[in-house]
Amino acid sequence: MAHKASDRILDLHNFGEFGGVNPSISDSSTYTFISAKTMFDTFEGNTEGCYLYSRHSSPSNLYLGEAMAALEGTDSANVTASGMGAITAVIMQLCDAGDHIVSSRTIYGGTYAFLKNFIKKYNVTTSFVDITDLQAVEDAVKDGTKMIYCESVSNPLLEIADIKGLTRIADKYGIPLVVDNTFSPLSIAPAKLGAHIVVHSLTKFINGTSDCVAGAVCGSKDFCLALKDVTSGAGMLLGSTLDSIRAASILKNMRTLHIRMQKHSYNAQFLSERFEEDGLRVVYPGLVSHPGHELMKSQMVAEYGFGGIMTIDVGSLEKANALMELMQKENLGYLAVSLGFYKTLFSAPGTSTSSEIPEEEQETMGLSDGLIRFSIGLDDDIQRTYDIMKSCMYQLGILTGDEVVL
Ligand code: PLP
Repeated sequence: MAHKASDRILDLHNFGEFGGVNPSISDSSTYTFISAKTMFDTFEGNTEGCYLYSRHSSPSNLYLGEAMAALEGTDSANVTASGMGAITAVIMQLCDAGDHIVSSRTIYGGTYAFLKNFIKKYNVTTSFVDITDLQAVEDAVKDGTKMIYCESVSNPLLEIADIKGLTRIADKYGIPLVVDNTFSPLSIAPAKLGAHIVVHSLTKFINGTSDCVAGAVCGSKDFCLALKDVTSGAGMLLGSTLDSIRAASILKNMRTLHIRMQKHSYNAQFLSERFEEDGLRVVYPGLVSHPGHELMKSQMVAEYGFGGIMTIDVGSLEKANALMELMQKENLGYLAVSLGFYKTLFSAPGTSTSSEIPEEEQETMGLSDGLIRFSIGLDDDIQRTYDIMKSCMYQLGILTGDEVVL
């Protein structure tokens, strides 16, 4: 088996029905059986390789699942109709009424809202902690804690989780560490560092074309099968099923993920270094000034870099909005949420993707109004991009002369 995740993905080959170089798309919701006995056995989960109904599994979804397992180095992976479809299925599979979760407090706003507001309907409570403080994480574990949850690189504050350290705590208490690796595919391989379950929003870098939403759960064969169980699986019963046509297109895009990640990271590293030199408040894990820089270095695959996401705090929401509008006008990118597109995308998380997090909590976690999150695109001439971005900042008085006005 190839040592590199990118090669493991490229090594997969499933020919199409007529010898096509891509696998055929399974354009069916249901499947016939020659014998009634095989249908019964399939319902019981006893027949490998038989398809029952596309909410349970389909060839196209299994191919994409294989690629996701190859990416993360797990035994198996299930794909879902969105990242939230993956995250919510995992949480509901692991927790019963009355259980407890320890979660990083800086996570994607939708996940935060699910843990804080939605799951409490089932009397499941969450302690939100500073994930960079391992003692605080361990102190929050109590009777009834069923999982530790974090993002390897957090949205939007770009905190770095110490996956090995968190695994040690999870193992000590016999609970799984669930890691959302959406921001750092290929750069960080959480399962290789010990995490038990890895979830993804495929919507972002992995698909890379901003044309669909999708997700995945990567883990042990037993856990992935349990999610699909026809009588008790949260994946099967909550019904967040990815369409086969989308699964096929995401699989094709995954084959260029390694090239794209290198370019996203190169460009983000370039811009973050320049803007930091200019005196702006830049956060990017590839900067020596980032508190998680050394940790990320110690747990990443160097050639894919520190990822495509950086933030700049321009001081106020007004300035952030004006800058984003001007950058869009200058065709530097789009004022849009999400990430991993060929074009740079920017948004102010406090009023968009993290708006589910109450204001006072945003303040405690250091999420300020003037923060802009950039998902840096695949621009070939990044110096030119820098020059135009800088001129936008001068026009708005965010940069003045040699001084920075914030
Ligand atoms: N996880 C992270 C880190 C995200 O940024 C997002 C979406 O922005 C999600 C999960 C949710 O993914 P989806 O929008 O595909 O449901």
